[in-house]
Amino acid sequence: MKLFSIFGDPVSHSRSPLMHNCVFKHLNYEACYTRTHLKDGSKLRETFLNLKLSGANITVPHKEEAYKACDEIRGFAKTVGVVNTIINENGKLIGYNTDADGFMYAIQEFGVVKNILVLGAGGTAKALVSRFVQDNLKVTILNRSAARLESFKNIATCSTWDDFNVNKYDLVVNTTSAGLKDEELPAPLEIITKILDNTSFVADAIYGKLTPFLKLAKEKNITYKDGSDMLLGQGVLANELFTNHELKKEDIQKYMAKSFEL
Ligand code: NDP
Repeated sequence: MKLFSIFGDPVSHSRSPLMHNCVFKHLNYEACYTRTHLKDGSKLRETFLNLKLSGANITVPHKEEAYKACDEIRGFAKTVGVVNTIINENGKLIGYNTDADGFMYAIQEFGVVKNILVLGAGGTAKALVSRFVQDNLKVTILNRSAARLESFKNIATCSTWDDFNVNKYDLVVNTTSAGLKDEELPAPLEIITKILDNTSFVADAIYGKLTPFLKLAKEKNITYKDGSDMLLGQGVLANELFTNHELKKEDIQKYMAKSFEL
């Protein structure tokens, strides 16, 4: 029986165990997916190996640490330096990133999007921004503090709350953890109001709740979505890696989506 886990802090809110177990159960795949509350990201590798895991997902705030924990990095994770999926390949930890493709899948319904404002500059922002830039989209990043903006300066327009000038956007994405376990907005109300008055669509990476940011978007009648479809998209791709592509993608998608109804 293969064992998988999600690592995060917090992690109790994560839907990943339900999603992956639903697929394993319905497709008779001999595996079980659990959750591990990890406070110290530098203990990720050691904990992964002690638990004898076949694979894992990594969530906030350990995705950058997860990159360092791996023996080898493959695919898009190499470009972004951020890992959300680890596979144990004969004792070697192989790191992947399935978040960005999961997000592209989620925003398909907004149609053509050319100009994006990203709120936040953490691991998720890194993955999404690299992917947007790869697709030749115009990207602006707004973050609370300056330090994390450094790594974005040569690929996007970067601002902190102090020097931000609003423009017109097709889509604004909240990738901060503001609203995850508190009722905070990703930036001061005055800035968020200006931003919402200048965008067509809004998305939040946080799922399973209407964040204060989405609440405001809803009040302003802006089309919005939470992070559920992104979660589904990244989960399907991670499950394909966990099961070594032995299961059909359509089946994984079907049963993973079913877990959202539970
Ligand atoms: P990181 O810890 O790497 O980055 C957090 C970012 O949020 C930083 O830019 C930080 O700014 C900012 N931030 C934190 N608190 C506040 C606040 N109170 N106000 C304004 N900005 C704040 O996190 P991740 O990128 O890994 O994850 C971010 C969010 O995305 C989480 O809520 C996570 O659950 C969600 N997520 C959802 C996914 C899905 O499938 N739906 C997939 C991946 C992530 P600073 O630099 O100033 O500290």
